[in-house]
Amino acid sequence: MNKEQHYQTILLFGAPGAGKGTQGKILGSIPGFFHLSCGDVFRTFDVASELGKIVYEYSSRGELVPDEITIKIWQEKIHNHTVLNLYKRLSDLLVLDGIPRSANQAELMDEHIDVLRVIHLVCDNQDEMIKRLRRRALKENRVDDAREDVIRRRWEVYKKETQPVLDHYPQSLISTVDAIGSPAEVLQNILKIVIPVQNAHFAHAV
Ligand code: AMP
Repeated sequence: MNKEQHYQTILLFGAPGAGKGTQGKILGSIPGFFHLSCGDVFRTFDVASELGKIVYEYSSRGELVPDEITIKIWQEKIHNHTVLNLYKRLSDLLVLDGIPRSANQAELMDEHIDVLRVIHLVCDNQDEMIKRLRRRALKENRVDDAREDVIRRRWEVYKKETQPVLDHYPQSLISTVDAIGSPAEVLQNILKIVIPVQNAHFAHAV
């Protein structure tokens, strides 16, 4: 992909339960932002299909779906959204949540995205994160957050495989945001960071 065709991107980064999905959905409802969650895409798959079975096999254990499959699915999804004109490459900031989730994914995505900012949602309070995941498991019927052992595995995977993604990007692109607080409070802090990025890159976004 030519550099000019790269998707101008904001990454929402953080541990399971940090609020990436909640914030991504809100941002995506604002004109000029397009939110894409990798986990949400995976959850649309029919578990009886070939791909659905693979995704279920990994996600129900709290593990990562293999990188090549993940990136291929992501590419197809973003291409479809572009063709349908739901995502407008020239005027929308792409807000990615849950991807890249390994250093290898970050490398594979370099030929498709320009990362303008990484929003690192930080929460040191593990009890609060567990509470959030449990609430979500009940509300959204999620297999991966229903069991304590799977939640713990998700955290191990985050620490070992996902945290190194932060080293892939220049430190100057990474902004830390406190994930504790109401969604509106966290959003306020995220907006302070992303609005200048939007203004700098899409001067006439509506
Ligand atoms: P999430 O909704 O982001 O917590 O993702 C739910 C599950 O989907 C994860 O535990 C993984 O099994 C899988 N998943 C989501 N995003 C990725 C990714 N970028 N790479 C590999 N697996 C992923």
